[in-house]
Amino acid sequence: MNEKGWVDRLIGFFLGNKDKYFQEILIDREVVDEIMQIARQSHPLEFMAMLEGKISKGVLRVDGLIFLPGETSNQGAVMKIFMMPMTTGTVGSVHSHPIPSATPSAADLHSFAKNGYIHLIIAEPYIEESMVAYDTFGEVISYNVI
Ligand code: ZN
Repeated sequence: MNEKGWVDRLIGFFLGNKDKYFQEILIDREVVDEIMQIARQSHPLEFMAMLEGKISKGVLRVDGLIFLPGETSNQGAVMKIFMMPMTTGTVGSVHSHPIPSATPSAADLHSFAKNGYIHLIIAEPYIEESMVAYDTFGEVISYNVI
């Protein structure tokens, strides 16, 4: 590819993705409370939901959960949900780990890379401090609860 080709490609990349760019993540307090409650009720099964929200002015705000049929399972909850297409207003996923570790499994990482911008894992004992956010690459990202 010549020099102009690369420039065109870079411009296209930035234009095509500017609505998906964010520096800050805000999660509504009610959403966090709901996640903790459902994770506890589902234990020892995993629960899984999609995160509803939007990106505006560099802020990704999560303001709701979207449940799909069969959202609890003893294994592979994540794999199942990612077979569904991402709908408008969906920004990522959340699932629980019935063990005291929020480290993504190999299957989790594979799923994170496919869809969404933010992926939450809440580990047993399902408190705010045991919930970790990851980007599509499985890197830990910080968030604020509002
Ligand atoms: Zn997992």
